[in-house]
Amino acid sequence: MIDRALAGATLAIDLGAIAANWRQLRDRVAPAACAAVVKADAYGLGMERVAPALWRAGCERFVVATAEEGLALRRCLSEWAAAAADPAQSRGRPEISVLAGAPRGAEALFVAEELLPVLNGPSDIEAWTAAAGRLDRALPAAIHLDTGMSRLGLTPAETDALAGEPGRLAGIDLRFWMSHLACADDPENPLNGEQLAEFEAALARLPRAATSLANSSGIFLGCRWYGDIVRPGVALYGGHPHPGRLPAEPNPMAQVLHLEGRILQVREIDSGRSVGYGATHRADGRRRIATVAVGYADGLHRTLSNTGFGVLGGASVPIVGRVSMDLVTFDVTTVPEAVAQPGAGVTLLGGEASIDAVARAAGTIAYEILTSLGRRYHRVYLDGAPA
Ligand SMILES: *Cc1c(COP(=O)(O)O)cnc(C)c1O
Repeated sequence: MIDRALAGATLAIDLGAIAANWRQLRDRVAPAACAAVVKADAYGLGMERVAPALWRAGCERFVVATAEEGLALRRCLSEWAAAAADPAQSRGRPEISVLAGAPRGAEALFVAEELLPVLNGPSDIEAWTAAAGRLDRALPAAIHLDTGMSRLGLTPAETDALAGEPGRLAGIDLRFWMSHLACADDPENPLNGEQLAEFEAALARLPRAATSLANSSGIFLGCRWYGDIVRPGVALYGGHPHPGRLPAEPNPMAQVLHLEGRILQVREIDSGRSVGYGATHRADGRRRIATVAVGYADGLHRTLSNTGFGVLGGASVPIVGRVSMDLVTFDVTTVPEAVAQPGAGVTLLGGEASIDAVARAAGTIAYEILTSLGRRYHRVYLDGAPA
């Protein structure tokens, strides 16, 4: 735990907002089930705090990327339930799907820890049915069909072959068929409809099981994309499901983050004076510059140099000069001197500086803003859970 007084910035993570976002999506997609994607340490926000908050909100299905993450999540949720004498234990154990599947040789670990592997190809199916044979019982799994990402999952030819030989699924307790959308963040893209049609055509020829297609943006394409289980990630953490539609369509999700960087010094510079590495900014008049103790090593993207902004005393203040490793400089000339003082906090994320607005300024996506949040912040978790 990093001390607030000793850190350059404070990152507040609102667990109540994450829970509220999950409930909003759950209500939207009902009667479909709403899982929660908590891979990459819950998109950088801390799986150990986020996952129990979601479980308490009623979430019973979690999705991670790797076996290691699955194991850590199982342990964290079990420890939390034991420590909290969880009254919800009667709900049973949460389902944990592992998108990368079970590495060869880790089958027994997956069974012991009740991790649900996503089988991504014929050899995954073979290895899992072989493990089931060794244990002489059906083993739960999900199967991923590739409908346009060309990344993971059975290719169309492999799906055809499986449809012709469904006996190859003997020994698998199939929990759901899944696929993943390539362009869900762009609602007009025809690939959204094409992938849905390809998924449905494949399902019609395969043994019946639950289905799962939509990520956060997929949910907002409409109910045809829901299937039986949706898999939101970024929307839980406050990302706009269709950021391209900002500002016309305001973000339906609650904001989760507030990042405030501390001003170390404020100085006046004369017209023509340079700011930062490479002298990429020169003052066009007498200016006041505030130096804040956050840099690209903390996840403040260097591409925000001369384009990003913060909020100080209710005013938007531009980043001037390059973002350095540990420091960033703002032009605070428009902010009253009494406000722009050493020790004051500049909001780097939160309010007007939403993760989508900052991502746009940085030339990236909200996902990368989240997953690159640094390790040097004083972190506070706000728990707005209703009593
Ligand atoms: C990361 C991921 C998700 C969640 O996506 P968001 O866009 O963050 O909602 C869902 N499904 C799969 C397969 C993923 O890899």
